[in-house]
Amino acid sequence: CTIGEQFDRTAARWGDRDALVVAHQQVRWSWAELKRRVDALAAALLARGLEPGDRIGIWAPNCAEWTLTQFAAARAGLVLVTINPAYRLSELEHALAKVGCRAIVTAPGHRDSDFIAMLDELAPRLPLLGVRIHTGVEERAGFLRLADLAASATPPASPVLSNRDPINIQFTSGTTGSPKGATLTHRNILNNARQVAHRIALGADDRICIPVPLYHCFGMVMGNLAAACTGAAMVYPAESFDPAQTLAAVADERCTALYGVPTMFIAMLEHPQFVGFDLSSLRTGIMAGSPCPEVTMRAVMERMHMREVTIAYGMTETSPVSFQSDIDDPLAERVGTVGRVQPHLEVRIVDPDGHTCPRGVAGELCTRGYAVMQGYWGDADATRAAIDADGWMHSGDLATIDARGYCRITGRIKDMIIRGGENIYPREIEEFLLRHPAIADAQVFGIPDDRYGEQVCAWIIPRSGHALTAEDITGFCSGKIAHFKIPHTVRFVVEFPMTVTGKVQKYLMRETTQAEAR
Ligand code: ATP
Ligand code: MG
Repeated sequence: CTIGEQFDRTAARWGDRDALVVAHQQVRWSWAELKRRVDALAAALLARGLEPGDRIGIWAPNCAEWTLTQFAAARAGLVLVTINPAYRLSELEHALAKVGCRAIVTAPGHRDSDFIAMLDELAPRLPLLGVRIHTGVEERAGFLRLADLAASATPPASPVLSNRDPINIQFTSGTTGSPKGATLTHRNILNNARQVAHRIALGADDRICIPVPLYHCFGMVMGNLAAACTGAAMVYPAESFDPAQTLAAVADERCTALYGVPTMFIAMLEHPQFVGFDLSSLRTGIMAGSPCPEVTMRAVMERMHMREVTIAYGMTETSPVSFQSDIDDPLAERVGTVGRVQPHLEVRIVDPDGHTCPRGVAGELCTRGYAVMQGYWGDADATRAAIDADGWMHSGDLATIDARGYCRITGRIKDMIIRGGENIYPREIEEFLLRHPAIADAQVFGIPDDRYGEQVCAWIIPRSGHALTAEDITGFCSGKIAHFKIPHTVRFVVEFPMTVTGKVQKYLMRETTQAEAR
């Protein structure tokens, strides 16, 4: 079915139960209330002359209107283009022009940026962008108010849609460079959301705390769409991630599931008021997006009451999840692997010559099946480079799969360090460093070296109240990991450069470290 049909089914079944709770907006909508607004907004968008297949951008931090727009666009058959709220003028212009948006929904602003002013400045350069809508209360020239459209009495429109139609253009995180826009259909993301929900046994009694950004697949597919498939409630703690607000939302709303990238869980566990929050309602959750350290997984299980937490692995281009652990998996696999492949997908581990690797041998992880994107919007060359002639999506990630099918992500191909002919996986060193009692977080990457080709560099965030020196790190490592893996350059920092999705940008750390060395 289509996303609209799935949404209707859930709304009809769970009518007066909570669908959406937004702590910072004092919003609490039942499925029936959300549906009323979704139907009205969908009809209003079509009444403004937009047609199925047209692109509509959403540029806002997490808020109720974001989700309203997501489902209204799906109902109307409009392709929702999800735009990073951290974008500034040139990035916004690039994204909107690239996909030819005819409409945009925006918040008046976020943090220090005025979104309306930026859109006004771009208006002459984006003649296609005829319908502009904002989520604020005030009247703004040239903008419609979303609240008016979502309350309009236009009769509901139901255009005929196919689940093979594109419905989203989602941008990748930009961990390795510029974000790429993946074109995804109803069939891609709706089915993936169902499988994700199934692995953590989500149902209408669950309440999912979603602190991850909605503009990214983690929030909008694994969060919002999974809720629309099951009747679970969506709970947003804040406009953007904040550890205390997230913990408070879990406690106040008695959430049963919590999502986050590893850095978010680390920030919550490290928070000085951590013990003051009652997390006893938590049952499950998903850690995903970047390597999930075993120590963090164990801490989440033991200290956050999330005995059934799982790890998911995926990428925007595969809708996103291809691997996920199951709440029934043995503990060792649940903390140390990304689980087994999701149903109805094929995976393959290949060596650089394109041959399938034997079980247990690391190679590039490739995925094929219903979840693979249609392509990068308007970029046939990039699509061909990512999806081969046989339909395999190449991930750029290194992984192994054991005899029972459990997968370990060993790192990104681009991040593997080759020092004097030795292949070094940064992930392994990061896991080792995290065992140090005074280290809160650690990132390892390679930097060019005249003698060895590359050298190991580590950026370390010490636990608050602890001072560390490079010698401490060397002392901790020596005799316990091979000498060539011991970080040669160490830098202590209070934070890492990160994408809005909470992913560490090693390429920026590498650039900074090199610039300092010069
Ligand atoms: P870009 O493609 O723009 O450089 P990105 O790849 O980080 O950014 P996403 O599509 O958001 O953008 O993320 C997919 C990537 O995230 C995967 O290719 C993988 O490297 C990483 N990843 C996701 N989940 C996990 C996980 N559980 N363990 C390790 N890595 C993960
Ligand atoms: Mg990527």
